[in-house]
Formats: sequence, structure tokens, C-alpha cells
Amino acid sequence: MTIGVLALQGDFSLHLKVLSKLKVSGILVKKTTDFDLINGLIIPGGESTVMSLLIDKFNLYKKIKDFAIENCVYGTCAGAILVSSECDDKKINTLDLIKIKSLRNFYGRQINSFSKKISINFLKNKINASFIRAPKLKSLSKKNKVLALYKNDPVLLQHKNILVSSFHPELSSSTIIHQYFIKMVKNNV
Ligand code: GLN
Repeated sequence: MTIGVLALQGDFSLHLKVLSKLKVSGILVKKTTDFDLINGLIIPGGESTVMSLLIDKFNLYKKIKDFAIENCVYGTCAGAILVSSECDDKKINTLDLIKIKSLRNFYGRQINSFSKKISINFLKNKINASFIRAPKLKSLSKKNKVLALYKNDPVLLQHKNILVSSFHPELSSSTIIHQYFIKMVKNNV
């Protein structure tokens, strides 16, 4: 099993580090043929406007959509914005993989970045979640499973094979969110 991390822009290398810590094979994904080598895809945080342009530029839009029909995709922060069905910023060509509306920079600018302990509904202990210019993720479907809340807003959601978080799990000392995604990929939910 190999997990790909979209490596057009943003925080991709830290995700590879977490995968290697968990002894899971991970590769950087930059072009359409890389998709033949992977069983799951992480779209990292970064700048969603730039990533959206690069996805179009490298003809990856349809490739990601086709991949997501049969495989698991996890979007974190900017990645969550990209996989959402709607975004308040029309510059983003959203991939529409999960019925959520993303509101960019909802949790403030870079200087307002913060870490908070949050409860995850499949975990006993709280984990530290880093919010960096994070989006609000509004669930638009009752079928979405809300796995974590912060101040009553969903910050970790799943619908079938698609997982999104508004925070950056690769910055946490806990690897539990990656482990959860790896399990999704293994079980091919
Ligand atoms: N605010 C960024 C955006 O809208 C996302 C920030 C992040 O991924 N940490 O693209």
C-alpha cells in the first residue's frame, strides 16, 4: 500500500515524514502517471488559490476526481478547501468530493494561528490541533460524519472515502489522524 501526497505547493513533506514514522510507504504526487502508484491521496495545507491553479495547469483536476471515485482522499486545510463542493472564494475550482462549503481564512490570518486540544469522537484523549489561516467547513449533508468539533463547528469530517480537516495533523505530536486515514485506505471504505 502506498499513499501519495500531492506535492504542487504547501506542506507536503511533513506528511511524508508522518507516513514514514508509521512505516507506510509514501510518495510525492506531481503528475498524472503518479496516480498509478498510489492507493490513497493526501492533499496538504498551503495556499488553495495557488494549488487550484497548479491542479489545472498540470491536468490533475479530472485525474483526482477519477481517483476519488474508487479511492480514499484526505484534504487538510487548503486541501479541504480544494475537495469541498462549494467555496466562498470563486477563484477556487473545487473538486466537489464532499458536500461541504468552505469559508477561507475563517479562523484568522497567519498571526492568529493557534493550537487547541480538541476531542475526536473515536479517541479517548484529546489531540493538539493546529489551525493556520484555517477554513470553516460547513457540512451541507446529513450523511457527513462529524468526527471533531471546535466551538461547535466541524473541523474533521468524513463521508465514505473522503476525509477533511480544517487543522494540520502533520504538525501534531499525535499521528492518530494519519492512522485513521491509513485504515480507511486499507479497508478501502
Ligand atoms: N488560508 C489558506 C487558503 O485559503 C489555507 C491555509 C492552510 O492550508 N494552512 O488556501
